[in-house]
Amino acid sequence: MSDFYAQGQADAIANTLALPCTARRLVTVCGAQDVLAAIAWAKETGLPLMPLGQGSNVVLPPMLEAAVLKVSDATVSLLSDTQSAVTLRVGAGKGWHELVAETLDSGFYGLENLALIPGLVGAAPVQNIGAYGREFAEFVVAVHGFDLVTGAAQTLAAAECEFGYRDSVFKQGLQDRFLITAVDIKLSRTAVISIDYPVLKSRLSHRAVSAKAVFETVVALRRERLPDPWKNPNAGSFFKNPILSAQQLLDLQSVEPKVPVYPQADGQFKVSAAWLIERAGLRGCAKGAATISDQHALVLVTDGKAKQSDVLELARHVQDVVEDQFSVALEPEPRIYG
Ligand SMILES: Cc1cc2nc3c(=O)[nH]c(=O)nc-3n(C[C@H](O)[C@H](O)[C@H](O)COP(=O)(O)OP(=O)(O)OC[C@H]3O[C@@H](n4cnc5c(N)ncnc54)[C@H](O)[C@@H]3O)c2cc1C
Repeated sequence: MSDFYAQGQADAIANTLALPCTARRLVTVCGAQDVLAAIAWAKETGLPLMPLGQGSNVVLPPMLEAAVLKVSDATVSLLSDTQSAVTLRVGAGKGWHELVAETLDSGFYGLENLALIPGLVGAAPVQNIGAYGREFAEFVVAVHGFDLVTGAAQTLAAAECEFGYRDSVFKQGLQDRFLITAVDIKLSRTAVISIDYPVLKSRLSHRAVSAKAVFETVVALRRERLPDPWKNPNAGSFFKNPILSAQQLLDLQSVEPKVPVYPQADGQFKVSAAWLIERAGLRGCAKGAATISDQHALVLVTDGKAKQSDVLELARHVQDVVEDQFSVALEPEPRIYG
């Protein structure tokens, strides 16, 4: 157990946009007693508790009037093992990419397309991380954690997590209410090759494809396409791809017939936010110390000295220009605090 009151006050909170941020407290949670101590502190001070991982999907203010909770458990244990599949329990403090690499090395398949996504396992259910045609929801069996009001330990089955496109109950009704401490995931014992995503297919379809080849290609593609957050601070894709109705799509196509469109199972249409931003001529656009990346139009980078206000001003400008030109609303993907 960590001593809640012994841990530092006014701690700096690391984040991949490199925004300066200090929280009233930064506390490492190791178990139920830490959660109860945090709840007691929140009652005493009237300040909220905020779960956080590696800070790769957040836009933080200079001061967070809250206690930031981080889960330290990075263990991986085998819950079941059959000829066809394994179920693993993974602590929320485990690095996501590390998990992808280790499961592949162990002959447990499925996560390859999700390689190199920054962050910790505890955040994966929150926005149902996804890339190259796969998403976390396809593998999760259950999510374990604590209710941050009552302190009760709880387990949610996958169906209770309300997973959607970059969405879940942890981003909605249970935001800051549920501290995720571990996830159970089911992986296949035989390779699961998924290369329908166009750029993956074009790189891989000419040869016999192994899970390792998919993993390596995804890693290579991501290194080519996305600015490295440790060199050019960023939070990955800053806007979700907008989902349009059939009528909204027709309206957009009447002015932009070449916009890339991805039909959805529910009859709606996802369009490329990066394409719209690029088409609006916003690549390279800057506000203060925040800039639209030259490498990828969907990524806002900072120079390491930016403030939250620079990032928000640039994001608002992008939203306004895209709305004016295409009548399409862009929704930020990272969580904006403060
Ligand atoms: C270069 C780059 C590329 C990226 N590419 C992708 C991509 O391809 N696909 C994708 O989906 N995302 C991508 N992201 C976004 C990000 O990596 C993921 O959202 C990741 O899951 C965030 O993990 P984190 O530990 O940094 O969470 P944080 O940013 O610290 O937190 C994100 C949210 O999760 C909540 N949270 C975190 N931990 C817990 C917990 N234990 N319990 C409850 N709530 C918690 C926080 O409250 C916050 O709301 C990218 C980011 C970067 C910087």
